[in-house]
Amino acid sequence: MKAIVALGANLDQPQSALELAIALLREATDVIALSSFYITKPVGGPVQPDYVNAVAIIESDLPALELLHLLQGIEKSMGRIRVEKWGPRVIDLDLISYGSILSQAEELTLPHPRAHERRFVLEPWLEIDPEAHLLTHGLVSEILQQLPPAK
Ligand code: ATP
Ligand code: CA
Ligand code: CA
Repeated sequence: MKAIVALGANLDQPQSALELAIALLREATDVIALSSFYITKPVGGPVQPDYVNAVAIIESDLPALELLHLLQGIEKSMGRIRVEKWGPRVIDLDLISYGSILSQAEELTLPHPRAHERRFVLEPWLEIDPEAHLLTHGLVSEILQQLPPAK
């Protein structure tokens, strides 16, 4: 099944962190597309450095929770510690969608409940898939047109 994974980092060497996360992802899954890296302003949370964001499309056979745990394992191996909600982080890997799975569970909500309001997810995703759509909100190209312009 096709999974959309959003990557973000804003500490130390965020670009290297993304590259390492992608290398680790390639060891465990098939990465079939990778967007360019986007430098973005933090949204919410405390004052913190800019982010580097990207989106990857991967192909995986894992059950959804196992795929989430794989992403969390990569975060952990890269030294992510959870301190403050929406605070700075060495790496963040979010599962944006996985096949046509709909889930409202707190541990794994699919599609990701905030993806539709985030340019830093939708723009890189659209770059690698012009037909991208969210089960819950429709075509990414159309969602983006309706978002307020980036500040
Ligand atoms: P946000 O979810 O708003 O992007 P965040 O990435 O900073 O915030 P985390 O601290 O990384 O949030 O994750 C909090 C919890 O979200 C995790 O414990 C995880 O189980 C849960 N979660 C629910 N749905 C998803 C999803 N689709 N992808 C990743 N984590 C998810
Ligand atoms: Ca996130
Ligand atoms: Ca996360």
